[in-house]
Amino acid sequence: MTTPILLSLARSRIISCTRCSRLRAYCRAIARQKRRAYRGDTYWARPVPGFGDPKARLLIVGLAPAAHGANRTGRMFTGDGPGGSGDFLMAALHRNGFANIATSDRADDGLQLRDAFLTAAVRCAPPANKPRPEEIGACADHLRAEFDALPRVGVVVALGRIAFDASVRLLAARTEAPRPSFGHGREHALPDGRTLIACYHPSRQNTHTGRLTPAMIDKVFSRARQLLGRPRRPAQRRAVSYRLKR
Ligand code: SF4
Repeated sequence: MTTPILLSLARSRIISCTRCSRLRAYCRAIARQKRRAYRGDTYWARPVPGFGDPKARLLIVGLAPAAHGANRTGRMFTGDGPGGSGDFLMAALHRNGFANIATSDRADDGLQLRDAFLTAAVRCAPPANKPRPEEIGACADHLRAEFDALPRVGVVVALGRIAFDASVRLLAARTEAPRPSFGHGREHALPDGRTLIACYHPSRQNTHTGRLTPAMIDKVFSRARQLLGRPRRPAQRRAVSYRLKR
């Protein structure tokens, strides 16, 4: 099957998923209550699929939809409001040539990702942005389905520790090497020739305190750009140790 068909199948399964009753109930409750600023909006209130370029070589993995962001707009990192994580991330992607505009406001705002696909470890907004381990585990199939539909991915950027751990499970489940550890900017060369890069999550808590600055996230995406510019290495069949760079 072709990438568009596989992505379409993954999208259908994600949108209709009901595995996590706690998260489904929370998303629907948020959609009924609404935030005052969005009182006139009809919330998406369903699980949120990834989006982006079907030929992407860069995969970006976030944590989960925000209750009044992607759970409202139906698109990852979209509608988080001024100063929110969506605009912070999209500005960085735009500066580094992975997005055509620097903001992410609505699903019909014209945003297009270039050579990048944006997804998350969990597809339903969790209370307090804290999914339970069993919910992360239940959602792993959806991440894998999207990943399997994107055959050109060579670099994965994981935003935050939960996304990083989900990415490690996705990428390294069958290797014998020690598991990579999270740290902003750490780069892990994987046995199959791909590279995993860790980045702090662009949450307000991180960006408003200076824990994650535009310069810091730019460094991650410019490194991803640099790696993708290289000729692709053939996949190695043998499991090898991870090479860790800080
Ligand atoms: S979090 Fe994932 S597995 Fe759980 S209901 Fe939502 S889409 Fe399904």
